[in-house]
Amino acid sequence: MPTALDALKSRLFDVNALNAAMAMLDWDQQTYMPKGGASARAEHSSLLARMAHEAFVSEETQRALEEAAKEAEPGTDEAAIVRNTQRNMKLRTKFPAELVARKSKLSAEGHEAWVTARANNDFQTFAPILAELFEITKEEANLLGYENHIYDALIDMYEEGATHAQCQAIFDEIRGPIVQLVKDIKESPNQPDDSFLYGEWPNDKQREFTEWLLKQIGFDLDRGRQDTAPHPFCTGWSVGDIRLTTRFKDYLPSALFGTLHEAGHGMYEQGSPMAWDRTPLAGGVSLGVHESQSRLWENIVGRSEAFITWMLPTLGSYFPALADTDPKTMYCATNKVEPSFIRVEADEVTYNLHVMVRFEVECAVLEGKLAVKDMPAYWNSKYEEYLGITPRTDSEGCLQDVHWSMGSIGYFPTYTMGNLLSYQFWNCLEKDLGDTDALIARGEFRPILEWLIQKIYRHGAKYPPQELVPMVTGKPMGAADYLARLSQKYRSVYGI
Ligand code: ZN
Repeated sequence: MPTALDALKSRLFDVNALNAAMAMLDWDQQTYMPKGGASARAEHSSLLARMAHEAFVSEETQRALEEAAKEAEPGTDEAAIVRNTQRNMKLRTKFPAELVARKSKLSAEGHEAWVTARANNDFQTFAPILAELFEITKEEANLLGYENHIYDALIDMYEEGATHAQCQAIFDEIRGPIVQLVKDIKESPNQPDDSFLYGEWPNDKQREFTEWLLKQIGFDLDRGRQDTAPHPFCTGWSVGDIRLTTRFKDYLPSALFGTLHEAGHGMYEQGSPMAWDRTPLAGGVSLGVHESQSRLWENIVGRSEAFITWMLPTLGSYFPALADTDPKTMYCATNKVEPSFIRVEADEVTYNLHVMVRFEVECAVLEGKLAVKDMPAYWNSKYEEYLGITPRTDSEGCLQDVHWSMGSIGYFPTYTMGNLLSYQFWNCLEKDLGDTDALIARGEFRPILEWLIQKIYRHGAKYPPQELVPMVTGKPMGAADYLARLSQKYRSVYGI
């Protein structure tokens, strides 16, 4: 006799299949689809999106959810499926169809206006649409409801349980020490030269080497693959099929660390129990925890001296120009810190300052303290204050990110949460495993991956992040581990 939970799962499997089809169309669009496919693809994707939405919010699913909620025993996987589905249902049903349609139309127009404005360095033609997108976001926040700050409703959509006060406290804690560290680095006489990392690196060699890297660190290529895309990302449609992308540029570290970053996301996804496949419990729990895993493999493992030293002989065999490079030189070059305008190209030290500017701009607009048309001057003054540089154009200033043009407002802080959490998790891992540098130097990544699987990956989305983080680390998310380790590492790289 099928139970109410079986009925709910069966509905969720249907929704999952539609979402998987959509994800595959999207992956193809970003990797292989010829330009001519764009307009038909937009139609196909929007139909699937509508079908997935309708199947999810249907009366049948809502009834199954209500019945399953009565049946699920607290603490079980089933209860977690119910909790997860209730949360998604709330997010999906709070907005009236009229608002969803208005936002979707405005986001499409906004994206187009942003592309043109960025190409022409003309913020003011984009400003009216952006102002409207902020207004719609306020409407959404009011419908979702919040207790203390409008931002609470927005950030919670991306990082369950996170609040404005929490973000504010994090940025207040890191602002001073990071700005000071950047200043000290700038004044150091030891500035690494990374010019030898630019060159004509054959794409097929970059592909072969990054695939070798994936195998070494433990990304399972029988349950995933790597392709290329202009903007690297990780996606997938089952625990058994996780897709990564990377890109090959004349700056070789772009592929190396891009691959490690996406592999971190991918191994987190591959680490979910197979029994949870196609349920809402499979995959990562939140954007912040997800980013902690990509940053952990990219920065803490990949940019460590032990890793660089271990990787270099093989790298030299693929790229003879690097065969005689000294490990210390390579280590310092790949950890070069330099204030720059573009967030996605920022180094580990300055990265959070870029995020902080966006958070402060978003809050100022949402609180009514800043008119959207005045955003460029405000943005530029923040870059001057925190990074000591002033964007020369709005294209390299407040027009650089795609997010706001698509109506995604309130999620930048999850990048910073990921950076903080990566070190907080790593400190616990190190306590359990001992000398991680020795493991990395020998290319033994299995104990590291296994620890992450046991402590984090196998829990998928079962526990909300505010429960998972204390469960793994014994304390809520904080900045202390991140600040201490960052300062230690970069003061040593720069001899300060
Ligand atoms: Zn990422």
